[in-house]
Amino acid sequence: MATPAGRADVNHAWRLVSRPQGRVKESDFEWTEARVPELGEGQILVRVVYLSLDPAQRMWMEPVDSYMPMLPLGSVMRGGTVGVVAASRNAAYAVGDIVQGLGGWQECYAGDTTGWTRLARIPGVPLTAFLAAMGHIGFTAYFGVMDIGQPKPGETLVVSAAAGAVGSIAGQIGKIAGCRVVGIAGSEEKCNWITRDLGFDAAINYKKENVRDALKRECPKGIDIYYENVGGEILSAVLERANIGARVAVCGLISQYNATGPAPGPLNFGNILLKRVRVQGFIVRDYVPRFPEAAAKIVPWLAEGKLKFRVDVTEGLRSAPTALNKLFDGTNAGKLLVKLSDEPA
Ligand code: NDP
Repeated sequence: MATPAGRADVNHAWRLVSRPQGRVKESDFEWTEARVPELGEGQILVRVVYLSLDPAQRMWMEPVDSYMPMLPLGSVMRGGTVGVVAASRNAAYAVGDIVQGLGGWQECYAGDTTGWTRLARIPGVPLTAFLAAMGHIGFTAYFGVMDIGQPKPGETLVVSAAAGAVGSIAGQIGKIAGCRVVGIAGSEEKCNWITRDLGFDAAINYKKENVRDALKRECPKGIDIYYENVGGEILSAVLERANIGARVAVCGLISQYNATGPAPGPLNFGNILLKRVRVQGFIVRDYVPRFPEAAAKIVPWLAEGKLKFRVDVTEGLRSAPTALNKLFDGTNAGKLLVKLSDEPA
């Protein structure tokens, strides 16, 4: 129940209680209810408005440290959130401030402010943008294309999961940089959206046609940059057409996150040598000090309509475990979010 100030007395949360095998099941989590704790000195209480569902969350469920520490069983599932400060014992945060941080799969976050930032609303930019184009998603696309891809006008950029949250922005940034941009996605609707609405030069529906043949047709001058979101067979097909000096920005390998056995390695790995291909993995957290640089580019691109994004919002925290699977069966249309409570006026 919420008080008039928007402060909840009771918090619901999804806690990770078993390590998923393959796809996530609701039974891998426990739905819990507890009283919101009293705040200690320096702490804030955040009413979560939006929870971000990301493919990486599947990796965070594994019993290993990754670029994030292993999540112990029994913990509130980790996740990025945007919310409103409902109570504060920290002089830097006032009730009503809009904040962003790893609030987790819960209605209220109560704790210290490490990793939290206050968001300044930007006219014309919806709150959802801070978990999409104007947040970790947009920054991932920006640094992957600009820093690792090093695009030059006239070069060919191929993007996989191209109609997804990161891929759709990566491709549009490639267009702004003057590249020929070819997207690979898993439905006709997605292929139409990226070519008709986002300005990609071509799209390949990997569920309908042979990617190897389609890349020959759509990349007649070979591939200079590959923005990798998927891994597996698509990476093999791209490497076959890599140009000398090509760059591969390894952003994600979603085809492998639910795998229960060893993932097949890509064919054509020899071309990394023969074509002097530069392959670099990156995690957007590496770029935190440079987020303002990306934001300074992305805000005007959004305002000028050069950059578009779409969000796929499901209602209510209870939907989180089942909604997460949309990322793996491709039924999400845009950045996948869960809406937990009303946006502030
Ligand atoms: P998306 O919105 O792109 O959703 C995931 C999409 O991946 C699905 O819609 C689906 O689209 C596609 N997909 C799922 N399984 C497969 C498969 N087996 N083969 C081919 N395509 C598949 O999610 P995000 O934009 O949030 O994430 C995209 C990638 O970016 C992920 O790999 C993620 O881990 C990575 N990432 C990396 C970050 C970093 O710091 N390095 C930060 C953020 C994201 P379709 O219908 O086309 O199959």
